[in-house]
Amino acid sequence: MRRPRLVVGSILMTLALLAPGTEAAKKLRVVATIPDLKSLTEAVGGDLVEVDALTRGTQNFHEAEVRPSMMLKLRRADALIENGVELDAWADVAVLGANNPNIVRGAAGRIEISRGISLLEVPSTRVDRSMGDVHPLGNPHFSLDPGLAPIITQNIVDGLARLSPDDRAVLESNRRAFLERLDREMARWNKIMEPVRGAKVIAYHPDVIYFLTRFGLVQVGTLEDRPGIPPSPQHLVQIIRLIKAEGVKVILVEPWNDLKLAERVAAEAGAKAFVFASAVGAVKGADNYISAIEFNVTALAQALK
Ligand SMILES: [Zn+2]
Repeated sequence: MRRPRLVVGSILMTLALLAPGTEAAKKLRVVATIPDLKSLTEAVGGDLVEVDALTRGTQNFHEAEVRPSMMLKLRRADALIENGVELDAWADVAVLGANNPNIVRGAAGRIEISRGISLLEVPSTRVDRSMGDVHPLGNPHFSLDPGLAPIITQNIVDGLARLSPDDRAVLESNRRAFLERLDREMARWNKIMEPVRGAKVIAYHPDVIYFLTRFGLVQVGTLEDRPGIPPSPQHLVQIIRLIKAEGVKVILVEPWNDLKLAERVAAEAGAKAFVFASAVGAVKGADNYISAIEFNVTALAQALK
C-alpha cells in the first residue's frame, strides 16, 4: 500500500507546482531593452504579454551598464525586443550572462525593431569608433517618432506572432486600435506644431532628429562635438554664435546630460534650455509612448512661441 500513496502524493505535488505555472505560461514574458519599446509592446501585446524593460527613461541608453539584475530579467524571457543600430549593443553581453537560448541572436525570441526604418544621419565616411562616436551606423533614436510607430509595431507583432502564431489576429487588432488612436493624436499634434514649423533648435545629444523632422522643425547643431563626445569649449563658442545667428530659441536637453551647462549656453546666447522626453519615463508625465510625445509636442510648441 505504500507505493500508490507515494504516487498520489507526487501527483498532488506536481499539480500544486503546475497550477500557478500554467496560469503564468499563458502570457509571453517579454523584455525590452528600452522603455519606449516596452510601452509599444504593451500597446500591441495587451493581455497576451508581460513586459519588462532593461533600462529607465532617464538613462543614457548608449552607456547602460550590464548588471546581474538585467540577466535575471532575461533568464526567463520568451522574447527580447531590441532597438538595434548600436543603441543597445550591450544587450548581447546581458544575454550571454542570462544563458537563455530563447533570446540569443538568431533565435525566434530575438526581435529587432529597426527593420524597415530609413535611418537618418548615416555617416558618409567611416566613423572612427575609437574617438567615441556612438552613432557609427546612423542615428538610432527613432523610437519616439510617431510616424515610425507603424513600422516598429509591425516588427513587434511579427516577432511575437512567430512565438505564438495563434495570437496573431489579436496582436494585429490591438495594433490597429493603437495606430488609430495614434493617428487621431497625430492630427492634433500637427495642429499644435503648425505655428512653429521651420523653427530651429539645438539638441544636447542628437536623439531628437526623427521627431523634429516629423514635425517640420530643424536641428541646426548639437552641444556635443559629435554623438557621445562631450562639448569642448571651442565648440560651445561656435554654438553660441550659431544660436545668435540663426535665431535659435530652444536647446533640448536629455535628463542624463548637463542641464546647467546647457542653461549657461542658453543664457549667453539668448535661448532657453529645458529637459525633454528623450524616452518614455524621461520626465514626469511621460509614462507611456503617447504621453511622452504629448509632452514633447506641448513643451516645444510652448517654448518656440
Ligand atoms: Zn545617441
